Amino acid sequence: MAELFDKLPFENLYWNQMETLPPSELRELQTLRLRRAVERAKELPLYRDFFAKNPLSDADFQSPEDVRRLPLTTETQLLDQYPAGLWTVPRHEIARLYAQKNGLLTALTRQDVQTQADLTARLMYGTGTRSNHFVQISLNFDRAGAGFAYQAGIESIGAAAIPQGGENAEILSAPTDFLNSLNVNGICADTKCLADVFSGAGCQSLSLDYAHVPVGPEVLNRRGELEDRWNLKIWLNWSHPAFFGAGMANECYLRCGLHLQEDVFLFEILNPQTLECVEDGLPGELVVTDLTREAQTLLRFRTGLTAVINSAPCACGRTGRRVTFVSGQ
Ligand SMILES: [Zn+2]
Repeated sequence: MAELFDKLPFENLYWNQMETLPPSELRELQTLRLRRAVERAKELPLYRDFFAKNPLSDADFQSPEDVRRLPLTTETQLLDQYPAGLWTVPRHEIARLYAQKNGLLTALTRQDVQTQADLTARLMYGTGTRSNHFVQISLNFDRAGAGFAYQAGIESIGAAAIPQGGENAEILSAPTDFLNSLNVNGICADTKCLADVFSGAGCQSLSLDYAHVPVGPEVLNRRGELEDRWNLKIWLNWSHPAFFGAGMANECYLRCGLHLQEDVFLFEILNPQTLECVEDGLPGELVVTDLTREAQTLLRFRTGLTAVINSAPCACGRTGRRVTFVSGQ
């Protein structure tokens, strides 16, 4: 195993100060950003009827909990708005579009692209990626451009990104030679991609020290076994394709839940039957509200995922609460 991981915690552990904002400052920031988000959401046809009947103003949002004044949003509602009813800015301000297989359309402005890069840099830097690393990206551009997201994070850190695809695919199909000859440090991949890489290499002696993997049942229950088999560390993160390709909740080196990036999103857990909020520590449906995204400000989006939020402080020093997924992921 790489020496790096024998020296935890790392020096300069945090990518930026937003990860360690004191809770009172975080709440203040969330409230300010929520007010701006509501103003943006009023431009979306999806919410026009709601705000016509409920003319809410800044004064109605005095705390993050006032998000409960806003309507819930479902994926079906988003699909009904396809395509151009889904963004809040003029067409020329859209910098990137991701079409999902199910018809979901995710739009980003240039600032949103930068935010995505920052969130992905947080997850990678916090688990050991450094500027002298080579990192292969074996994910493609589905799920709101996970490949793009990882590339932006790697390049923000100053590391080298090695996208696997196109003309590269043939070269990278001989992973033992390629990965080891360049001493590639890490890989961004799901467990199926990882299995392909290691089966091509005969499952032995790759230079890889770590893998950044989207969280899911196929890795949650057998991470230790996979790490032992492939002799690397597997770090988990979560995102929903209606928002970003990676980095909405990121694991720290202590591996006790994924830190929610609460300066960029508001997260709630609701009882899926009553739609009432449940306390931290109890399971329910994870609901997400955009705080900063410009192109598509989504209010209280129902992910359909069952999760538990842990608000106890984490010894890593990050102040974002931690999420654990129970089902539906
Ligand atoms: Zn932590």
